[in-house]
Amino acid sequence: MTKASILIVEDEAEIRDMLRFTLERADFEIVEAETAEDALQQLHARLPDLLLVDWMLPGISGVELVRLLRKDEITQGLPLIMLTARGEEHDKLTGFDHGVDDFMTKPFSPKELLARIKALLRRSRVAEDDKLVAGQMILDLGQHLLTIDGKNVDIGPTEYRLLEFFMEKTNRVYSREQLLDRVWGRNVYVEERTVDVHILRLRKLLTPYGCDGWIKTVRGAGYRFSPEQDLANNQAR
Ligand code: CA
Repeated sequence: MTKASILIVEDEAEIRDMLRFTLERADFEIVEAETAEDALQQLHARLPDLLLVDWMLPGISGVELVRLLRKDEITQGLPLIMLTARGEEHDKLTGFDHGVDDFMTKPFSPKELLARIKALLRRSRVAEDDKLVAGQMILDLGQHLLTIDGKNVDIGPTEYRLLEFFMEKTNRVYSREQLLDRVWGRNVYVEERTVDVHILRLRKLLTPYGCDGWIKTVRGAGYRFSPEQDLANNQAR
């Protein structure tokens, strides 16, 4: 089971430290950004499961950051809680308009924040249907767990995201570049070869269950995940 990750975008170090302390104790993986610009860079490299964004940031403001994220296909669905100071509360409506999922007014209790985070993660995971199923393969998005034939399969974080993407978009061909964009994030510093490495790992992981052939190499184009087709072949054998 992979820890859920949270990106904290907050310019005040004291508040970042408090948040990190609280959330790490609750078993979240924490990433920090001091500015919206910094956050955008980090988001291009890797997507967290949830974002905590301070309203008042130097440079690009918190609300403006949210507006940018909601315009982008890759980040538009990211669960997002905005942190505001008292007095900024009257602007909440603007925030909701721009796609903020929830608000916390400083100072807030760690317990309250945790409850809001968990509720939002639950909501967003329900929206993701909670489980992806392909043949005998089940990816439990809530628990970050892969089972095949009812057995738990140990899967690395990148292979997990790759498989999640494939299971959501079956029978469609994706180029290495598209996979890098969608699974690794845009503006990545990794080579297209990296995709092949992780595809290989994923296939290896699926081999004992006879599902490795579901990931097809499409010559000159990229990769395609086709579970049904192969399942039919298996049954025909
Ligand atoms: Ca601030």
